[in-house]
Amino acid sequence: MTGKETHLLREADGEETLEGLLRPDAVEELAADSQPRSQRLDHPAGLLTHHNFQVALAELLRSSPAEQEVALIWIDLVSLRREYSLLGWKGAAALAAHIAETLRSVVDANALLGRVGESSFLVAMAASKFNKISRLRIQGIVDALTPQLRGGSETRLEVAAGVAFFPSDTRSPEDLVRFAVLAADRASYVKSRNVVAFHTRMNREIMRDHLLEVEMGKGLERNQFRMFYQPKVNLITGEAVAAEALMRWNHPELGAVAPCEFIPVAERSDLIKGIFDFNLRTALEQARRWRGLGLALPIIAVNASAANVREADFVRTVRSIMAEIPIAPMQLELEMTESLAFEDEELFRARVRQLRSIGVRVAIDDFGTRYTGFNVLKKLRFDTIKIDQCFIRGVDRSQDMIALCRTIVAMGRQLKLRTVAEGIEELGELEALRQIGCEVGQGHLFQRPIPADEFTVFLREWPHRMRDFGFAESGSLFHNHGLYAVG
Ligand code: C2E
Ligand code: MG
Ligand code: MG
Repeated sequence: MTGKETHLLREADGEETLEGLLRPDAVEELAADSQPRSQRLDHPAGLLTHHNFQVALAELLRSSPAEQEVALIWIDLVSLRREYSLLGWKGAAALAAHIAETLRSVVDANALLGRVGESSFLVAMAASKFNKISRLRIQGIVDALTPQLRGGSETRLEVAAGVAFFPSDTRSPEDLVRFAVLAADRASYVKSRNVVAFHTRMNREIMRDHLLEVEMGKGLERNQFRMFYQPKVNLITGEAVAAEALMRWNHPELGAVAPCEFIPVAERSDLIKGIFDFNLRTALEQARRWRGLGLALPIIAVNASAANVREADFVRTVRSIMAEIPIAPMQLELEMTESLAFEDEELFRARVRQLRSIGVRVAIDDFGTRYTGFNVLKKLRFDTIKIDQCFIRGVDRSQDMIALCRTIVAMGRQLKLRTVAEGIEELGELEALRQIGCEVGQGHLFQRPIPADEFTVFLREWPHRMRDFGFAESGSLFHNHGLYAVG
């Protein structure tokens, strides 16, 4: 993009023009465009409209010398919407104009600038995908936009940007923009980075996500989902004290799809609500069935994803399902991930309070992955800590892991919480956890997740199998040792 042809947006008579960027025939094409001229440029911000950006981009790519690489940056001002509500229309328009100014001041004179909707900005500029300086420049452009003045004081806007490169990622101008949007989407939920470069994997993933989303909707209607159950075992007495309900999806053509693949897709759509409804209903019905067979488990645990917990009517949903399928509230434990507690402590605390007020227990899942401190834990007042599998794997062979688990267990005890070790696979790990004093364990060593009818057999056989793990055989099914006592 070194030639004269690639100039863009010169000030002429106080108005932005496309002159210089396009070949004369393309300028004529634009001039002949039926859109009135005033609509071709986004006037308050003085940038190209989406349509005109596409036209100019296509032309730019067509006329670029063979060795010239171009970066397309899609910048979402994630928090601009909130600025509109804070500043009103006029104030926000001024802010947007200021952002456009900032953008113009940090890009090369011959870069192409555009705006889509209220809060997305586009930049096309010479940059090479595998050149570190190019990447740093792009990061610099995005970083320049975050500090902005609001009412005289500096505020930080939340920005999510995606970059795609021509011709490395694609030669098509449409795909270049689409890929940059894909990468920007990624940046909006990968909180650790505000600029993400497109990777072909993302295109495959979005196609797969879309397929899963469509199929999941049908799958819920067509009964393709099942709940499996995995026991949690008291590490002192060996009793099976709880079952965690885990969802399984067997699609007629796609085969088994893992929860770690479909749950995040469901979370980004409305489907997660239906999934939680289905899970809770199925698990409660199953708990009642076991009770009817004389196999009452002290606890049935159901996972609630962050998207569920964030719903304003989450607790109402729990309450209404429990009214429909009555069980002792203390028999239900909802597992919510540590990342939610970490990201939205207030909300987490409110939900724990609401759930406990109706007698439901709360467990913090995958604990240890987000460094929630003791002081925060103390305030959250939940019931159970589940130590993440990554600390359990090989715990018997690592002094560091032992020390970490010991700290978590001690912290739990201090706060009168139960600690559950997830993902125990080996006898050595079990032994180490017992010595540390962890109260409950779960993992393939005892039992993989299995369908309900197999779990019924497990419950019957477990009192005789448990001596294989060093527990004294128990004659009756459930002694109550105070841990996990039902209400
Ligand atoms: P999670 O809630 O932490 O569940 C524990 C995961 O570890 C389960 O994987 C379980 O099968 C697996 N696991 C248990 N013991 C072992 C072991 O010894 N070794 C290993 N390697 N893995 C073990 P799964 O069922 O694939 O679920 C993965 C995650 O997906 C869950 O993590 C949970 O976050 C989510 N998930 C699963 N089912 C549901 C559901 O019904 N609703 C929601 N919202 N999330 C679910
Ligand atoms: Mg869980
Ligand atoms: Mg977990």
